Amino acid sequence: MVKDDYRHQGLRKRLVEDLKTKGISDPAVLKAIGEVPRHSFIDDSAFLELAYQDIAFPIGCGQTISQPYTVAFQTQLLAGKPGAKVLEIGTGSGYQTAVLVKMGYKVFSIERHRPLYIRTKERLQGMGLKASLFHGDGYLGAPKEAPFDRILVTCGAPFIPDELPAQLKPGGWLVIPVGEGEEQRMIKLLKQLDGSLLKEDLGAFRFVPMLKNKV
Ligand code: SAH
Repeated sequence: MVKDDYRHQGLRKRLVEDLKTKGISDPAVLKAIGEVPRHSFIDDSAFLELAYQDIAFPIGCGQTISQPYTVAFQTQLLAGKPGAKVLEIGTGSGYQTAVLVKMGYKVFSIERHRPLYIRTKERLQGMGLKASLFHGDGYLGAPKEAPFDRILVTCGAPFIPDELPAQLKPGGWLVIPVGEGEEQRMIKLLKQLDGSLLKEDLGAFRFVPMLKNKV
């Protein structure tokens, strides 16, 4: 396991302060970000020094570990109670997964890229973080584990797959970056008690694409 020394902890405190100035205000989210050693999720030692800057990084297989601000923003949007069942699409490095575990959620996460799935599973286990990880196509969700209180998509989706809102509990919501090309809109899709869906647009972000039929 990668060690977490006072220098990392100091840098992490600074990152939390940086996120506060950028508008992240939920104390539980800031605490979770303050607890997860982001440098442990970066394989390439060339990037280790930059682990606590508010930027995205390559994690292999052409994918990236999301920018801390994006992770914090999406986590803040989830606003679930501890113990809530949360499905993440796009496990990647497992950094966001770890933040969700620290929020006290019961976490399920799907990754389509097998080598990433395997590496991240070992990494989270090694860190003592409990989450149910799956190798599969996030477009299908995780019907066997449904329904979920929240679903979080961490890759840019060209459209909202019908399977995802179908796997939400009434009163639950989906957070998903939607759009093809360079930029996506962060969409919150609330499943109302009568089952109808209410859409809210929360601004522009950049994500790697959600790929179909490529497991
Ligand atoms: N949450 C991650 C972000 C990784 S980038 C982190 O904190 O590191 C998005 C991830 O989504 C990539 O690992 C990519 O392989 C994965 N992905 C893309 N399309 C997918 C799909 N259809 N199903 C599951 N995962 C997918």
